[in-house]
Amino acid sequence: MKTIIISTGEELVRGRSVDTNAPFLATHLEGHGFDVCRQVTVGDDPALLGDEIVRASQDCALIVISGGLGPTADDRTRRAIADAVGRELVEDGESRRHVEERLRSFGRAPTQEHLSQALFPAGSTVFPNRRGTARGFACRREETWVVAMPGVPAEMRPMFSESVLPFLVKMLAPPGHVRFEVVHIFPASESAVDERIADMTAHGRNPSVGITVRDGVISVSVCARATDPDEADRLLRQDLDLLAERFGELAFGRGEATLATAVSELLRARGATIGVAESVTGGLIGHMLVDVPGISRFLLADVVAYGNRAKVEQLGVPAELIEAHGAVSPQVAESMARGICSVAGSDLGLSTTGIAGPTGGSKQKPVGLLYVGVRLDGAARVARLNLRGERRQIRDRAAKHALNMARRALLKGVDLLEPDRTI
Ligand code: ATP
Ligand code: MG
Repeated sequence: MKTIIISTGEELVRGRSVDTNAPFLATHLEGHGFDVCRQVTVGDDPALLGDEIVRASQDCALIVISGGLGPTADDRTRRAIADAVGRELVEDGESRRHVEERLRSFGRAPTQEHLSQALFPAGSTVFPNRRGTARGFACRREETWVVAMPGVPAEMRPMFSESVLPFLVKMLAPPGHVRFEVVHIFPASESAVDERIADMTAHGRNPSVGITVRDGVISVSVCARATDPDEADRLLRQDLDLLAERFGELAFGRGEATLATAVSELLRARGATIGVAESVTGGLIGHMLVDVPGISRFLLADVVAYGNRAKVEQLGVPAELIEAHGAVSPQVAESMARGICSVAGSDLGLSTTGIAGPTGGSKQKPVGLLYVGVRLDGAARVARLNLRGERRQIRDRAAKHALNMARRALLKGVDLLEPDRTI
C-alpha cells in the first residue's frame, strides 16, 4: 500500500520549526503494513499543496497530510484538498457544534474563520479532536485516500492513534497480521547499533527491522508480518529476544518508554524515592522526570544549584571542597548527591556538575566534561564523562546520562556501578 506523508506549514519549509509529525506518522504507518515511500513538505501555498496531492494520487493509494486546518488565514489545507479531489466544502452540523461549544468554554464567540473548521469536502469521514477545534477528515481522489489532520502534534497524535489509524487499517491495510514494537537504547552510537544487528536490518527480511535516532536515543523498530496471528507474535518475540541478548541493559525500554519512565518504574518496584541536585543540567533532569505521570510519589526534590553559593547553602557542599577541587569535580558531584539525599530525605540522590560550553573550558577541564554523582542507600559513585556537541546537546545528553546512571544504580546497586559507557 504505497503511502505518502505531506507536512504543510511555512514554518517547516523555512526551517523555523522541525517536522516531528512525519516521523511519527511514518513509524506508525509502517508498523501497520503501509509502505511509506515519500515524505514531502510544502508551505502555506494551496496551489503547491494541490499539485502535490494530484501528483501523489498517481502512484500512491494513501496520502496523509498534517497541518493547516486551523482558523487562521494561512491555514488553507481544507480548500486545497477539496479542489484537488473535486468536491465542494460542506458544513458538518456536529462539527460546527463542536467548534461553538469549545470556543464558548473559553468564553469566546466563534467567528466565520472558526466556523470554517466545520467545513469538509463532501462525503468525507470526519475524525474527532479531543484537544482542539480542528477535526480531521478522509476523502477520496479516484482510488486514492486523502487524510488530513491538524498540525499541532498534541492534537494530531491522539487523533491519529485513536481514530485515523483504526479507520485506515479497516479500509486499507494489507491482509495478514502485523506485530510492531520499538526498543530504545542508550547510550550508543547509531553505527555501533547498526553493526550489532546488521543481520537483522537486511532488506526484505521478516520481521523488518529499522533504526532511528532522536536526541541521542537509538530506537530499533521491529515489524513482523504473517498470515497467522500466532506466527506474527512468535516472529516478533524472537526478534525482541535477540535484541535483549545483544544490547542487555543498554536497552532501557519499549514503546513509549523514556529514560525517565524507566527510572520511575524502578523506583516504584523498589518503593524508593529520588532527589536531584542539578548544576550543569539546570533543571533538565527534573523536567524529564516531571513528564512522567505519577512521579510525585517518587520525586521528592529537584534543586537547581548553579552557583557555588547555592551548592553550599542549599545542598550543604563544604565551601572548602569547592575551593580545593573546583565546582566541576568528582568531590563536589558526590557531595551534591549526599546533600540532596539529606535535604530531600530521599533514598537515591542524583547530581550533575560539568561544563556545557562553549566557553569556560580548560585543558584539564574541557567543554563537555561531566560528573554524575549517584548515592543510594548510603553508598555513592561518581562517573566522569566527556560529552561532545554544542551547549544544548551537552546539557540534554548530561541529563540522559544522569538518568541512565540512576537507572543502572537501581538495577544493580551502586557498588557495581561503572561509568555510563557508550557503545
Ligand atoms: P492551528 O489550529 O493551531 O492553526 P493547524 O492544523 O492549522 O492548527 P498549523 O497551523 O499547520 O496547524 O500548525 C500549528 C502549529 O503546530 C505550528 O506552529 C507548529 O508549531 C506545529 N506543527 C505543525 N506541523 C508540524 C509538524 N509537521 N511537526 C511538528 N510541529 C508541527
Ligand atoms: Mg494554523
